[in-house]
Amino acid sequence: MIELASKPSPQGGRTLTRYDVTRAELAERLAGQPRYRVDQVWAGLYEQLASPDELTALPKALRAELEESLPLALEVVAERTSDGGEVVKWLWVLTDGTQVETVLMHYADRSTVCVSSQAGCAMGCGFCATGQAGFDRHLTTGEIVEQVVRAGRRARDDGRRLSNVVFMGMGEPMANYDATWAAIERFHADLGLSARHLTVSTVGIVPGIRRLATEALPVNLAVSLHAAGDALRDELVPINRRYPLRTLMDACAGYLQAKGRRLSFEWALIDGVNDGDRDAQLLMERARSLPLPAHVNLIPLNPTPGYAVRGSSTRRVREFRDLLRSGGVNATVRRTRGTRIDAACGQLRATHADAEPTAVALRPRR
Ligand code: SAH
Ligand code: SF4
Repeated sequence: MIELASKPSPQGGRTLTRYDVTRAELAERLAGQPRYRVDQVWAGLYEQLASPDELTALPKALRAELEESLPLALEVVAERTSDGGEVVKWLWVLTDGTQVETVLMHYADRSTVCVSSQAGCAMGCGFCATGQAGFDRHLTTGEIVEQVVRAGRRARDDGRRLSNVVFMGMGEPMANYDATWAAIERFHADLGLSARHLTVSTVGIVPGIRRLATEALPVNLAVSLHAAGDALRDELVPINRRYPLRTLMDACAGYLQAKGRRLSFEWALIDGVNDGDRDAQLLMERARSLPLPAHVNLIPLNPTPGYAVRGSSTRRVREFRDLLRSGGVNATVRRTRGTRIDAACGQLRATHADAEPTAVALRPRR
């Protein structure tokens, strides 16, 4: 057995997993090896999306040692596919027993993975299954990166290439800024994904938006607005009391000025709550008040166990979209993909809450 230099585990005693280690840390671990090994292993992990045991150019003992000392972070609890295999959703268990989920969606022109940044969420939006379940913990950089690697591998098996990442799974990425940003840098530098294909979605954490504006990589920003007046937004999205719309819009304008990227507003249409003509009017004004008009993504609210109100009807969704368009605002209706497999935010975990994880355990596809 080859001895690798070991490092104490960093994050509160949790295991340092395969995609947590930086290149410099890998180099330290491979200190006794020829220097080209670092490139070989790094390319194996990030270009080939391979496990160390698959890297046949490495000596067998080294493969075994790396396999053991750099364990995967995510083990499959459940994997479901829908829409004829176009949507794949995973529920994973992390090394400390926490559960998170990831969704891969194939479209005609791209394959997008929707990743989680936290296990649970502390923001408490009442309509969101993740918000209803509360906060467990932040994910590490490696746990975020591995979601993309595993989805990328699956996309390849499906004959596709993973091209886009959206932070629209569980959690609020801006509340876990450092790990989120380190993951984004890894997607760009090591997985070769273009910044234009990376989207951070936030409920409106203003300091996070301001910080994002100072980063070198111009990623897309999606702001989950859902209401264009403070009274309703305070109710739907409680963090609005801390960062009200004026402050939020100011930060959005700052982001656009710094990056010149398109910004989108996400709007979950809730029957009788935020789908009236007046709501459309206010939203239009907000979208047009920015230096570059915001693009609006409409999605009918997905039903969740803890929220009694329904999503708007298909007809109302279309009318609302047309109102925005007639006011000169770009608006698209997001297809609700994978609702039959509970592919909406936080819902797979919610439906598994009573199930014994082992009862549905599948082997990880590696
Ligand atoms: N916390 C971040 C990112 C994760 S939520 C955010 O809030 O932006 C990803 C998206 O799913 C957000 O736009 C959120 O508002 C939306 N969402 C949450 N619950 C939903 C539901 N029940 N139906 C439709 N969209 C929902
Ligand atoms: Fe958290 Fe986003 Fe859900 Fe709100 S909508 S509870 S911020 S994950």
